[in-house]
Amino acid sequence: MEELTGEEVASLHSEYVMQSWHKQGGPVKPIKKADGIYFWDYDGKRYTDMSSLLVCSNLGHELPEIVDAIKEQADKMCFMAPAYASEPKSRLAKMLVDVADPDFYQRVFFTNGGADSNENAIKMARMVTGRPKIFSCYRSYHGSTIGASNASGDWRRFATELGGSAPGFVHFMNPNMYEDGYTRGVDDAAVTADYLHRLDEQLQYEGPDTVAAILMESIVGANGVILPPEGYMEGVRALCDKYGILMICDEVMAGFGRTGKMFAWQNFNIKPDMFTFAKGVTCGYVPLGGVVVSKRISDYFTDHVLQCGLTYSGHTLACAAGVAAVNYYLEHDVCAHVKEMEGILKPFLESMVEKHKCVGEARCIGLFSALTIVKNKETRELMAPYHTPNSVMPQIMAKLMDLGFSTFGRETNINICPPLIITAEQLEEELPKLDEVLTWVDKNLCD
Ligand code: PLP
Repeated sequence: MEELTGEEVASLHSEYVMQSWHKQGGPVKPIKKADGIYFWDYDGKRYTDMSSLLVCSNLGHELPEIVDAIKEQADKMCFMAPAYASEPKSRLAKMLVDVADPDFYQRVFFTNGGADSNENAIKMARMVTGRPKIFSCYRSYHGSTIGASNASGDWRRFATELGGSAPGFVHFMNPNMYEDGYTRGVDDAAVTADYLHRLDEQLQYEGPDTVAAILMESIVGANGVILPPEGYMEGVRALCDKYGILMICDEVMAGFGRTGKMFAWQNFNIKPDMFTFAKGVTCGYVPLGGVVVSKRISDYFTDHVLQCGLTYSGHTLACAAGVAAVNYYLEHDVCAHVKEMEGILKPFLESMVEKHKCVGEARCIGLFSALTIVKNKETRELMAPYHTPNSVMPQIMAKLMDLGFSTFGRETNINICPPLIITAEQLEEELPKLDEVLTWVDKNLCD
């Protein structure tokens, strides 16, 4: 088949593809190839993938170890139905349990991505506890299918609620120290106590014995890498224990080495009863997600039928990609490398707070980071207040993109989450571009 030109690719897309989160038919950039931490458009312009696409391509693009594993598996067996065992699925399930904690976790239910992982975790929590309600945070995103979207807290939920509100979802406010007016490292204990008190109160008003699970991102990602105050996650775990509620951590974005630990919940002194994953498990080379469940949950389903099923659960090609990716994380000690790179990224971002009028706060754990962009640093007036249409942040993203620095931001944040394999030299080459754009923001958009 003759290759299409970039223009043809873009125009077919605009005419025939339903584009997520957009009005249809708008312009779209066609991308021709990707390699390592870079991708290229059809004009040959190179972009550095400073967000790992959607915080997904943790090991960069076209990693030979994953590509070869997919090819080898494709030659043997692309697909086998969930009812059968296959080598990649069996291997990957054990690898994930071993990495998480084989004394506490037992089994994996495989899915196709993040949203259906959360859907299935929610179903399991309801089946195990016999309780209907799911508590989740306002400052969160869990996916866009009906259940995951209803569980999500941010405004992307509103349209789904119109199109199919699912019952039993209750939201609670989770802390965002900067936007709430506090100082990290100073006010943590007070903020933690306050937010936990309010959550406890809300649980009591809802009736704790009607609550199946508290679902939360281990570290809130798309809404701005919101690091919880000291003690908060442990406090939520304690409330779950107090009321017999299951704790589900969503590791879809924060998992697989992103924070310098294989799973982000390992940064806290907690073990969720279940955690969901996707993205980094295959780095998106083939779609895959899943739910890792504790021995207790697993035991429940040895006596009860697991009423969950997906044609592609444990997809053979996807699991082969997963085995190769997890092997790579472990054999190359990617977590240690991430911690080393944090040593460059974090001080740089903190220096941006010192230098720029427009940077209110920097948050960074591993290679998971975001800047809060403000109009006025004294008053903490945000550049883009929550859920207000504005063209300011897209303008900032476009400036970065012009410099070949590809990333995303939501609301008033710029996320910086490069592939975990980025080298010190590559980081040092990219970060000045961010500095340059922030200087432009200071001059043109701040009070
Ligand atoms: N959970 C979190 C924390 C996410 O960031 C995302 C997507 O960005 C999802 C779930 C949904 O994943 P998917 O788009 O694979 O359904």
